[in-house]
Amino acid sequence: MKKLYKSTLVIYFIFCSLHLFATEAIDSAARNAHALLTQLCDEYGGRLTGSSQNEKAMTALEVSLREIGLEPKEQVFLMPGWERGDDQVWLTVPYSRPLRVAAIGYTPSCSQFEANLVDIGDGSIKHFPESVAGKVLLLDSSSTLVTREIDKAAFSRGAKSVLLVDREGGGQLLARTGSFIGESLHIPIFSITQEEGRRFQRMLALHKEVKLRIEVKSRCLPVKTKNLRLIFPGTLPERIIVGAHFDSWDLGEGALDNGLGVAQLTALAHVLNGLKLRRTVELVWFNGEEQGLGGSRYAAEHIGDAPVVAMVNLDMVGVPIAVNALGDKSLVNYLELWNSGRGVHKLPLGVQNINWFGSDHTPFQIAGIRAITFNGPIPRDSVRYYHDYADTIDKLSESIVVDSTTIIGDLILNLAQDNVLKPYRRPSAENEQLFTVFGLDRRMKAIGYWPFVNDVKRIIKKE
Ligand SMILES: [Zn+2]
Repeated sequence: MKKLYKSTLVIYFIFCSLHLFATEAIDSAARNAHALLTQLCDEYGGRLTGSSQNEKAMTALEVSLREIGLEPKEQVFLMPGWERGDDQVWLTVPYSRPLRVAAIGYTPSCSQFEANLVDIGDGSIKHFPESVAGKVLLLDSSSTLVTREIDKAAFSRGAKSVLLVDREGGGQLLARTGSFIGESLHIPIFSITQEEGRRFQRMLALHKEVKLRIEVKSRCLPVKTKNLRLIFPGTLPERIIVGAHFDSWDLGEGALDNGLGVAQLTALAHVLNGLKLRRTVELVWFNGEEQGLGGSRYAAEHIGDAPVVAMVNLDMVGVPIAVNALGDKSLVNYLELWNSGRGVHKLPLGVQNINWFGSDHTPFQIAGIRAITFNGPIPRDSVRYYHDYADTIDKLSESIVVDSTTIIGDLILNLAQDNVLKPYRRPSAENEQLFTVFGLDRRMKAIGYWPFVNDVKRIIKKE
């Protein structure tokens, strides 16, 4: 008991001293990273995977890393991509004017057609009118269907297009993917503003005619893209992987989603530069996340037998109030210890252990690797704009980057020096439970992500 107390005390002091070091070193690195992100956002705009803006912004990041003596490595891969064109949706009845729309990812191109709009409520069968053949469908934001299901249901009934009413009001227009596995949709699907959608719902409820003319220039195409990796060798080969997706949607600047993670990772690169580490730390900026986790799928698939202790995912992590073991109990004790070592800076909600689907940790989890993320809410006034035109750098204060990176960096430095956790891969039966226990398998099945492994090889390929 006494011995346990003593060793706990030693660990506690290691944690405390690292914490102080982290706070000082990270502060200026995070300020510089926010400045770099501002430049990436304003000079290159949104970083849609496969676009020239994405490539140029990544080159600028690479140059900035080489300037401090680091050697980032490119991990090139091919994935199904999508390009936004000059799409036109015109209201023609009751009067003529263009509608503000955003095609969702993997909307196929199509030549001009005109069709009537019909309300299908939340898309459940009871709301589907008798015949929707040849019509454009208006789907409410309360729908729980994934886009692939909407596309299939609409196409199989002969519908020509779907308009999705946005979940956020205030004229926002949200981008999102129509497929997590890079399949072209059968028919064009668009986001429209909540206000416009509600107006059409009111008119259709009164049996007024609403007619649209649609022409789509957006298109699906294979893209060559890459992840950027930086490896900081430790005395041990066992590895901590820290990832953040570099890509974003094209409408805004991707400042919150996920410029924030890009900045945090860049700040970590500065802090780790020249440090003596016990474990090897790998930083990865992923591409392809918004269109089906392409980069992390490729990286996880090519990780081989490397001994990995954990993967830490930074996707829109604001200032952390909790750290999340993402469903793996074997991480909880370590994280509790880390958090209590922070003394007065302890995260208020401590350690959580809840898995969720849909960001770059998922492919690593599927490969049996433990994953960690943070519960770090971004203020509502900013976060409401993610995927919108207004996801711009003015929504992301320098202090969020500094304060979040201080906490994240503290954990990464501790993981790098820790000797409590051992490298671990979950066996497949246990791995499946990680998803089923949290009921994630339904959605994963619906979007074509379950079973997963065979699919990865099919669509995300080596150059
Ligand atoms: Zn994201």
